[in-house]
Amino acid sequence: MGETIIPLADLRYSALVPPIPEQLTPPTGLLADRLGRPLHDLRISVTDRCNFRCSYCMPKEVFDRDHAFLPQASLLSFEEITRLARVFVAHGVRKLRLTGGEPLLRKGLETLIAMLAELRTPDGQPLDLTLTTNGSLLARKARALADAGLKRVTVSLDALDDTIFRRMNDVDFPVADVLRGIDAAQAAGLGPIKLNMVVKRGTNDHQIVPMARHFRGSGLVLRFIEYMDVGASNGWRMDEVLPSADVLQLLQAEWPLVPLDPTVEGETAERWAYADGGGEIGVISSVTQAFCRDCNRARLSTEGKLFLCLFASRGHDLRALLRGGRSDEEISAAIGPVWAARDDRYSELRGAAQVPAAERRIEMHYIGG
Ligand code: SAM
Ligand code: SF4
Ligand code: SF4
Repeated sequence: MGETIIPLADLRYSALVPPIPEQLTPPTGLLADRLGRPLHDLRISVTDRCNFRCSYCMPKEVFDRDHAFLPQASLLSFEEITRLARVFVAHGVRKLRLTGGEPLLRKGLETLIAMLAELRTPDGQPLDLTLTTNGSLLARKARALADAGLKRVTVSLDALDDTIFRRMNDVDFPVADVLRGIDAAQAAGLGPIKLNMVVKRGTNDHQIVPMARHFRGSGLVLRFIEYMDVGASNGWRMDEVLPSADVLQLLQAEWPLVPLDPTVEGETAERWAYADGGGEIGVISSVTQAFCRDCNRARLSTEGKLFLCLFASRGHDLRALLRGGRSDEEISAAIGPVWAARDDRYSELRGAAQVPAAERRIEMHYIGG
């Protein structure tokens, strides 16, 4: 099969079908990309739909009633996702994160989790299986997710103040329901729970200290994320980014912090501990301090495109291989060269102002965070 560019107007659908090498050996094996980065994490988007309209991700004006979400038939089935995940595990993936859109909107997600929880590394170990959610459905679903084999959850929470929270999700969703979801996740043993707070200067930066105060000592790890220029619809402006250094300064003024070592290579968050034993926080400085050097994450979109970077403008169409009757060995052999050719490092280049704006196309809700 040759390299094909599918000429559809919407860039979401633009993809290369990875060619199958003639020589299928070795069909699996650990990979390193052109910058020497291994493949370790696979983020799987299970839906492009969401019940929130966070302005930094799916602004209401763009994702309105007329927006065409993917039809059911283009979504990867649970069997297709599991099949691909198995191939990726053979190539070194040890962590699977389900995301979206809002992953808990995908019908029967527990079934997928149970299927993924069965997968084993070549030396027989279970995978690190986790999920990122806006928390809106967690109170109802946490127990079933844990029973299905989910290990942990990351919950996105941008404010404690109900007015600000409702404004940020832009669907008038109350913060109390997300807090109940977090409690339910804790009770179901889906920990250690991480909380993601995207900080937008002038919108929720005055929630940084109240959020830290609320979650100090709870065992939950609050992470402050710099607002990123993903996609083409959030109207991103640098002056709305609050650098992590400023976040740390605000926190240090209240509680002294000490730096912690990374727990795993390729970790996105820089970890800090409250010096008084109040637990841990993290900062994710995707804009001001790029961490492409250790980026070991691949992303599988809802319709089965493999993206090598959050800012990639085109994916590799693995669904075409799945639905084209290709064997696991063939798909595995096709993925190897794709990762080996990877040289993406958008955030580093953005810092050096080397990226043309037109390249920034794929939306976060489509590719997953
Ligand atoms: N709907 C789920 C949620 O919100 O957790 C999962 C998908 S969401 C795209 C994944 C993560 O991306 C969330 O933590 C969200 O806050 C983050 N995110 C979305 N747009 C962002 C942006 N422009 N900058 C930084 N983080 C962003
Ligand atoms: Fe939905 Fe998550 Fe995007 Fe917010 S960040 S709009 S919750 S997908
Ligand atoms: Fe990884 Fe791309 Fe983000 Fe760099 S910009 S850390 S390569 S996803």
